[in-house]
Amino acid sequence: MTGIIGIVTSGYIDSYYLATANTGPVRPAVAGEVEADVCVIGGGFTGTSAALHLAERGYKVVLLEAERIGWGASGRNGGHVGVGQRKAQQDLEAIVDKGVARICWQLSLEALDLVKDLIARHNIDCDLKQGILHVAAKPGHVDDLRRTGTHLLQHYSYEHTHFVDKQETDRMLGSEKYFAGLLDTQAAHLHPLNYVLGLATAAESAGARIFERSRVQSFSNGSTVTIRTDAGTVRAKYLVVGCNGYLERLNGGMAGKIMPINNFVLATEPLSDSLATELIRDDVAVQDTLFVINYWKLSGDNRLLFGGGETYTKRFPRDLKQFVRKYMLRVYPQLKQTRIDYAWGGTLAITMNRLPSFGRLADNIFFAQGYSGHGVPTASFAGKLLAEAVAGTAERFDVMANLPTRTFPGGTWLRWPGMVVGLAYYAMLDRF
Ligand SMILES: Cc1cc2nc3c(=O)[nH]c(=O)nc-3n(C[C@H](O)[C@H](O)[C@H](O)COP(=O)(O)OP(=O)(O)OC[C@H]3O[C@@H](n4cnc5c(N)ncnc54)[C@H](O)[C@@H]3O)c2cc1C
Repeated sequence: MTGIIGIVTSGYIDSYYLATANTGPVRPAVAGEVEADVCVIGGGFTGTSAALHLAERGYKVVLLEAERIGWGASGRNGGHVGVGQRKAQQDLEAIVDKGVARICWQLSLEALDLVKDLIARHNIDCDLKQGILHVAAKPGHVDDLRRTGTHLLQHYSYEHTHFVDKQETDRMLGSEKYFAGLLDTQAAHLHPLNYVLGLATAAESAGARIFERSRVQSFSNGSTVTIRTDAGTVRAKYLVVGCNGYLERLNGGMAGKIMPINNFVLATEPLSDSLATELIRDDVAVQDTLFVINYWKLSGDNRLLFGGGETYTKRFPRDLKQFVRKYMLRVYPQLKQTRIDYAWGGTLAITMNRLPSFGRLADNIFFAQGYSGHGVPTASFAGKLLAEAVAGTAERFDVMANLPTRTFPGGTWLRWPGMVVGLAYYAMLDRF
């Protein structure tokens, strides 16, 4: 589908997702004075899911998005919907109480189910498919994958991971680069822009009002929160903030918990059925175990969507097609002659320890961010937890809010040069 019969494309970055976006309206910018029970800032998974769940509870909701719905990471990502938190469950158990780790695991399963349920309930056409194959990029990672599968089975009765030996991994991928795999048959993958557009439509059907091109310049504390854009003012009893990697300077306290980083994706030309099957035999999504992970899947029209490479400053590489293509060719040298039709990048937020950052700025101001590359399920679920917290049932929200997260010293971009050096160091280790 193209922009002519799909969404009106102005204001979005060019991407394969945009070229295949479902039909959607252009919403007006907020103007004048608007009253609401809850104002939500940000039109990604966090904001649209929060708006939907709040509207379903009967709240009068206004969502303000600075650009267009899904303009941020939610409309640009790899579309992998994994289980667990971003941190491996064994590693999580090492830093939080075992009971808390268990609740986090249960919440992550609920997050995955929520994504599937929202898609089914609201009839969202977003190429949802089952399965993520995690592949060992180094011999030393094989045992890690095996241990993860065993640990999840023994301690969490999770029966949906299957260890895949090297021979079978080679057959599943048409690449001999990897040393083994762990297939998770419950995990899923989808077209993220169509998913978030569907969430926004569902939120509106439930009664939420959505304004695009409405950048919030500031908000005040108080029993009524006043949220200002250049053209309008919203007064609300509650505020929910879901700006993640695009938060910039809106709030220093929240910004200090996260660091924005950029990640990149390309889409090849459509592949023949035989080549597509050679690259990913079972149409699952794939991600490797490197620090800067490579991840890929097939699109609805048989393109390879390949994600690779990170940068840590505000500027994107000039030639994104070439930038991501080199990562793709390391896995699939047979694609040397394959045309690259699209390449794009997006900004996500990571935290110091990769656990998400949920919290309150005041009794009536809530936020969720810092999903560290695991936001398709976690941000969708955050929206539900934010709605619970606004409604006064914050137990589950508080499990997440109480996870240990540290504040980064310094400013937003290059907030801590040491952190950037650290990330670059681990990225370098990937090569050995
Ligand atoms: C290239 C890439 C690949 C990724 N791959 C995956 C993946 O495969 N699986 C996975 O789980 N996660 C992945 N992620 C991470 C995932 O996309 C994010 O965690 C998730 O989309 C975050 O959703 P969000 O709604 O919190 O933020 P976003 O989708 O970034 O939305 C934030 C919105 O807030 C708006 N905003 C910011 N400031 C203001 C303001 N002042 N006023 C009004 N609006 C404002 C922005 O315009 C933006 O639209 C990836 C991210 C990227 C960039």
